[in-house]
Amino acid sequence: MALLQISEPGQSTKPHEHRFAIGIDLGTTNSLVATVRSGQADTLPDAHNQHLLPSVVHYQSDAVIVGEQARKYQLEDPHNTISSIKRLMGRGVEDLKNQFEKLGDILPYEFAETDSAVPKIKTIAGNKTAIEISADILKELKQRGEKTLGDELQGAVITVPAYFDDAQRQATKDAATLAGIDVLRLLNEPTAAAVAYGLDSAAEGIVAVYDLGGGTFDISIMQLKKGVFEVLSTGGDSALGGDDFDHAIAEWIIQQADINAASLSPIALRQVLREACLAKEILSEKTEAQISIHFTESKSWHGILNRDDLNKLIDHLIKKTLKSCRRALRDAEVEKDQVMDVVMVGGSTRALRVRELVSGFFAAELKVDIDPDRVVAIGAAIQANALVGNDTEGNLLLMDVLPLSLGLETMGGLAEKIISRNTPIPVSRAQDFTTYKDGQTAMALHIVQGERELVNDCRSLARFELRGFPPHVAGAARIRVTFQVDADGLLSVSASEEVSGIEASVEVKPSYGLKDSEIEAMLKASMENAGEDKDARSLREQQVEADRVLEAIDSAMADDAAEMLSADETDIILKARSALEKARHTATETQQLKDAMLNLEKVSADYVAKRMNASVQKSMAGHQVEEFNK
Ligand code: ADP
Ligand code: MG
Repeated sequence: MALLQISEPGQSTKPHEHRFAIGIDLGTTNSLVATVRSGQADTLPDAHNQHLLPSVVHYQSDAVIVGEQARKYQLEDPHNTISSIKRLMGRGVEDLKNQFEKLGDILPYEFAETDSAVPKIKTIAGNKTAIEISADILKELKQRGEKTLGDELQGAVITVPAYFDDAQRQATKDAATLAGIDVLRLLNEPTAAAVAYGLDSAAEGIVAVYDLGGGTFDISIMQLKKGVFEVLSTGGDSALGGDDFDHAIAEWIIQQADINAASLSPIALRQVLREACLAKEILSEKTEAQISIHFTESKSWHGILNRDDLNKLIDHLIKKTLKSCRRALRDAEVEKDQVMDVVMVGGSTRALRVRELVSGFFAAELKVDIDPDRVVAIGAAIQANALVGNDTEGNLLLMDVLPLSLGLETMGGLAEKIISRNTPIPVSRAQDFTTYKDGQTAMALHIVQGERELVNDCRSLARFELRGFPPHVAGAARIRVTFQVDADGLLSVSASEEVSGIEASVEVKPSYGLKDSEIEAMLKASMENAGEDKDARSLREQQVEADRVLEAIDSAMADDAAEMLSADETDIILKARSALEKARHTATETQQLKDAMLNLEKVSADYVAKRMNASVQKSMAGHQVEEFNK
């Protein structure tokens, strides 16, 4: 597994050679790229010395423009100028329909009619998926990295929100692949921020990451143990951020200027919003901001916004974030005063009032020394640097999630997932299994990794056996199998039988590593084959059931068919039996097999009933009836 592989620290094949890797913060509003040079992590600027790249893509028939330049087209060509695309990553057409009303406000473009499940935005350069649009942003950042570093770029760590699900993470990875970036790892944004502050080598404890960006608010409560962050809870508001501050200020301006908002053109409204945003940012440095706006030729307004005014306008919004914090703490079952550090992330945490209210809420001091816009990219760069083997101390071995599911082979060659991928590690999970045959006293355990339903399509990690437990009727034994992935990323699996307490275990060694490319291929295959896999799984389940039925009827008939059944009856049952046996090996549809089983059950129903009666009589023989009535 990849996580095992990277747990071997600093093993660059050529230790003297420095390898460059980048960290990318692919944000909703702004994106950044950072790298470690001479032991120092920093973000990389563009030719105009701008570090932040607005996450905006403008399509022309023969060109793609990304960033600040693209933003300029937002007003004049909104349909071909895409912003906030991160909100659509990993989302299907169906999700979009549910979300559409909310998104309608912020996404002014048109969606193409499509028979694919992935929504496509109509642009002059063709229909574009969120993955393609994100890839265009990533290409720009990659180029920036390559310009600075030459052609030695080894790969990138890309950050994602902690709450991103599998589909959203996969979409991010696909975007990177499309941009020609080798993804070393996806890293949770709050984890990256904590890494930037070096908290991973600090004492163990609880860390809160408060991330207020342009349009989103995220709060993550994490627990640090032996250099590994476990996300205890996440919360926030996907429609609350600095943009809302701008709106509140814009409304205030319109009120002050005594203007009818409905009479303003979209362009004039934009202008008011721009001025509002500017005033807000100035007030993080200065005590007052001058605002002047020309609404029309004849109508203009000049005024001053001071900090008190601003606070009155935004306090209720900040208080909303604190409500989310309270909820996240409750979900994590953590008290406020257990929080050791509060890491401030996102451009909007520059607003002094935000800092004031957040520090009043938590008992801990706020971490604000690293630029809150850049802190996530910087943490990603530090992690990327360690992953390509430059961190010779090997003290940064953050592996906060499992890249692929871990499971066990069950009857019929099926893979049963015990720990699913993206589960934070360290983690321990147990599941009970049982025996398949009467009198079974040993069990073979086969540990596999992957997302597919059939063992043959997964990767085999290890095998071991549990032997010498007492015989039970099939299905009565309880074997508890425990999977444990420790902070070093090592997997150990143990099994114990409940009654006898007999145990066996195996430790899976790091040499079973999977390359990221292998992971990718496996994930892709699991997506492509999801439907097929389900069918294969249910067929396999029925085959296992058929085997059990065949075995039961054979053993019963060997016992007492001669005395209980007439020749005709035997004949009918045997016919149904061989039909089932044939179906067991040739049926390609689950239903065929089910029908054959049902038929055998039907024709042998009388026989089964007779046997049960006989067995009851046998056990009653020699006893007084009264005994049984007690
Ligand atoms: P995202 O994570 O969504 O990409 P960012 O972290 O880049 O967003 O934050 C962008 C937001 O930060 C914008 O609303 C911007 O106005 C706000 N912002 C940037 N600088 C300041 C500042 N000095 N004071 C207040 N808000 C700021
Ligand atoms: Mg951000």
